[in-house]
Amino acid sequence: MNAKVIDGKALSAEVLAEVTASVSEIQAQGLATPCLAVVLVGEDPASQVYVRNKLRQCEATGIRSVEHRLAADTSEATLLELLAKMNADPAIHGILVQLPLPAQIDEQKVIAAIDPAKDVDGFHPENMGRLLAGDESVLVPCTPLGCLLMLKHTLGDSLKGKHVVVVGRSNIVGKPAALLTLQQHCTVTIVHSRTQDIEAVCRQADILIVAVGRAEMVGADWVKPGAVVLDVGINRVERDGKAKLVGDVDYAAVASIASAITPVPGGVGPMTIACLLRNTLQAYQQQR
Ligand code: NDP
Repeated sequence: MNAKVIDGKALSAEVLAEVTASVSEIQAQGLATPCLAVVLVGEDPASQVYVRNKLRQCEATGIRSVEHRLAADTSEATLLELLAKMNADPAIHGILVQLPLPAQIDEQKVIAAIDPAKDVDGFHPENMGRLLAGDESVLVPCTPLGCLLMLKHTLGDSLKGKHVVVVGRSNIVGKPAALLTLQQHCTVTIVHSRTQDIEAVCRQADILIVAVGRAEMVGADWVKPGAVVLDVGINRVERDGKAKLVGDVDYAAVASIASAITPVPGGVGPMTIACLLRNTLQAYQQQR
């Protein structure tokens, strides 16, 4: 079998086009433009790239953005003060604090300080609780939302009843991916670093979502022939003396037996940013 490639770039372009059309309509009505505030603390190079991409996409869709770059030694109190101001500002509809934060700042405290209505990352405990409770109107984390949109696009109604195995149980990817697919009436199993006979569990999956952070860990012997495989992992490796990005899935091997697979790069990654802007628009609409 030669798997169909699930094209994250093409699908994210569709999501962004929908956001752009909605923003134009809002502007045509003379209403305030949706606005995303992005906070970056410190100079982590990967975070700088992520923030730059997010701001660039904002501009492309017509969403207004405000950027706050704070020094690496910024205190927790200063950041919390800035968040309180942005929570109270009706012109700001979405707030994103780029993670990770420097060691002197408690990440959980910062996430909890964002107004849940403006929490476009979907990490606030209230939003996570509402997702767990099955609330379909809540803001949900962007990467698992991107995965869900890809599954809906690939499988349509036949997503229902499928056995999903999620590899990884982080709060930002694994757990919400499991909850979102459960909400779609899938049968869901979560596996992690302590799971016994993990390959055998994964081989039962109709849909395998892999979010681990280990280059090419999932080989063909982990995958049932005909399964749909979403690879969330982003790993920098060196091949033939050159730096390269690879996923958590051995793409060449798994593509030969899966029915559909996401590439890295060009799969889940672009969907994550598109979903951030989709969430910003959703936050705007819910605040109005
Ligand atoms: P975390 O490190 O928070 O979680 C990794 C999970 O993988 C943990 O639950 C861990 O298990 C599990 N794990 C680790 N080793 C193994 C193993 N040998 N076998 C089975 N499970 C294992 O990572 P994230 O969820 O934040 O991210 C995962 C990957 O996705 C990373 O590569 C990250 O860069 C990428 N990512 C990509 C995004 C995108 O836009 N495409 C967005 C976010 C993340 P345990 O809990 O037992 O320790």
